[in-house]
Amino acid sequence: MKSNKRIYLDSASTTYVSGEALQAMMPYFTSEFGNPASLHLYGRDAEKALAKAREQVAKSINADPSEIYFTSGATESNNWMIRGALKNATVKRVLVSSIEHPSIIELTKQLAEDGYKIEYIKVDSEGVILVSDLIAKLAKPAALVSVMTANNEVGTIQFLHTIAKICEERGVMFHTDASQAIGSVYIDVKEMKVDALSMSSHKIYGPKGIGALYLKKGLKLDKLVYGGGQERGMRSGTQNVPAIIGFGVAVELALRDATVNNTRIKQLRDYLIREIEGKIDNVKLNGHRVQRLPNNVNFSFKGIEGESLLMLLDMEGIAVSTGSACSSGSLEKSYVLSAMGVADELAQGSLRMTLSRNTTKQDIDSFISVLVKTVKKLRQMSALR
Ligand code: PMP
Repeated sequence: MKSNKRIYLDSASTTYVSGEALQAMMPYFTSEFGNPASLHLYGRDAEKALAKAREQVAKSINADPSEIYFTSGATESNNWMIRGALKNATVKRVLVSSIEHPSIIELTKQLAEDGYKIEYIKVDSEGVILVSDLIAKLAKPAALVSVMTANNEVGTIQFLHTIAKICEERGVMFHTDASQAIGSVYIDVKEMKVDALSMSSHKIYGPKGIGALYLKKGLKLDKLVYGGGQERGMRSGTQNVPAIIGFGVAVELALRDATVNNTRIKQLRDYLIREIEGKIDNVKLNGHRVQRLPNNVNFSFKGIEGESLLMLLDMEGIAVSTGSACSSGSLEKSYVLSAMGVADELAQGSLRMTLSRNTTKQDIDSFISVLVKTVKKLRQMSALR
């Protein structure tokens, strides 16, 4: 019998806004509606709240508040950083990993057309950057290296310390997209020698359309938007105060509750992995088994298409994803899995399940029983073709 309960296993795509974040935001839509640039009390109150959120965001990565620029999200932060770093660099060459989010990969395709030199750092079969390839590529000068802290599709966490150190030793700027990693991976930009970092609010129970770029003091970037001089003149436009307040609270809570949440979610993740491997034949876990985001499970199911599986699960009220949400909707295979050397047939049958703070063991059990039936059905159908 079909249960009425919907199960959301797509938290890497986005999360709901937590009650705490929402509550903190509410006054800034109504009574506390001032423009932070205004000199009167309304404005000063808004500016004070903005400063607090900037502190919360900075503290989460051990940056200084003056090093935080609010943006519309990680897509904007990534675009700004890479374009900005190239613009004034004497060396027009950038190295990015081959498994970056489309907000970097698509940008670099355009930059290559514009005449910049882009090179893609290889990863191994588990999605870990090949340090030997990075070192070899850094034999020639580069303006910037950008490697994501953790991958949104397969959940692999990079050895950020090592990568940052290699860049620092060679005097090359290092940027990381930490959108999926905040609250799950320990990040200290000072200790790790990270020069720039992108963040997003809606992956950590904050509102959508808000994020930040951390840029180490002293590093120069071109202004992103010209105008009234907000964000220390770098990104003009009246700030989205309620969203920034929600983001600040979300970041603070993500860090405060990290140990408790991650321990529980990791146990559920490993249970889900064991159940899938135990109950379904011909499956392959994508990504690193250990060096992996606590909420990420990504499997390839041999002989079926991920999209068909996703749609049948959706009909049962279960939300999952194939590849990344941004590139799904097409039957193109995942470039992330291709870069990891996953065979086409397996790459096409991949499914990403990402758990949330609210996911229960019951959700996982219900999901598994539907998954087992659905995979069986699809395999029988494809055998008949
Ligand atoms: N980078 C990564 C790794 C992501 O997972 C996402 C969200 N899918 C982004 C960047 C884009 O973030 P935003 O939606 O805030 O623009």
